Amino acid sequence: MSDSSHASRRAFLQRLSALGLAGLGGSTLLAGCGGGGEQPTTTDDQATADTEAGGDDFTCTDTSGLTEAEVQMRETLAYVDETPFPDKRCDNCQLYLPPEAGAQCGGCQVLKGPVHPQGYCNSWAAQVS
Ligand code: SF4
Repeated sequence: MSDSSHASRRAFLQRLSALGLAGLGGSTLLAGCGGGGEQPTTTDDQATADTEAGGDDFTCTDTSGLTEAEVQMRETLAYVDETPFPDKRCDNCQLYLPPEAGAQCGGCQVLKGPVHPQGYCNSWAAQVS
C-alpha cells in the first residue's frame, strides 16, 4: 500500500472520528451502509431519468426509505450528485459500490441510499490498487 493510500485512509478515519462514528467500529458501519455483503439497489424511482437533458442525466437523490440519521449523514458529508472536483468522483472512490445490472445509481460504504457515479462527498478516498 502506498503512502498516499495510507494518507487517504487516515484522512477518512479522521473524518469518521470527527463525526463521532469511529466508535461504531468498521464492521458495524459497513454493515449499516450496505458493506456487509448487501449491495444497495436502485429502483427507477431512485434514478430519475432526466429525459430533457438527453437521457444520460439522472439523479440519485431520492432519500425516501432512509432514516433521519441516514439522511443527516448524507448532508453532513455534503453528498452531491455532481462532483465539484473533476478528478474526485464516486466512481473512482475507494468506498463506491457500483450499481447493480440495469441500475444507474450505485451505493457507498459510508452513505446509505443511492449514489451517483459522478457524485462526491467529503469522505472521498483514493482507490487502493
Ligand atoms: Fe461514498 Fe463519498 Fe466516496 Fe461517493 S465520494 S463513494 S459518497 S464516500
